[in-house]
Amino acid sequence: MIAFEETISSELIYKGKIIEVRVEQAKLFDREVTRELVLHNGGVCVAAFTDDDEIILVKQFRYPFKEGLIELPAGKLEKNEDHYSAGLRELAEEVGATPDIYEYLGVLYPSVAYLYEKIHIYYAKSLHFGETHFDDDEYIEVLKVPFEEAVEMVLNNEIKDAKTAAGILMIAAKRNKK
Ligand SMILES: [Mg+2]
Repeated sequence: MIAFEETISSELIYKGKIIEVRVEQAKLFDREVTRELVLHNGGVCVAAFTDDDEIILVKQFRYPFKEGLIELPAGKLEKNEDHYSAGLRELAEEVGATPDIYEYLGVLYPSVAYLYEKIHIYYAKSLHFGETHFDDDEYIEVLKVPFEEAVEMVLNNEIKDAKTAAGILMIAAKRNKK
């Protein structure tokens, strides 16, 4: 049985542009426990494939890790924004691509202990390419990687981003089931 923890109080510590930090007291059986939370509106990422079965990945500098990381094209949601259309927007902005085939794969929780963030993941194919439109605070390099090679990059840990690793392995597993 999972014990439900009812929130008793919630204190806002910090409200920024993309996250909110709260410290909450919750009831666990007869005890009161402290929970530290980071709240985020959530995000969406898209595993998009070219007609040559290359997956489209983006490389960008990620400030917390001071590292260039390879990821699926992705973006954050505005409050209550629909993730279906947000995924199409991010794919168009970062890669300049519009898909004919666009399917929902599921939702990922990137860090469950303290972070309330849900990342929705889509599969896209039959792409039409146009212009890219990056946000002011992003600089992105677009890579087209043969899918087998991308799976290898997850296995050898060259791809470290959780949503990207999960997305690539989900698609690889689905293909193996066929
Ligand atoms: Mg992005």
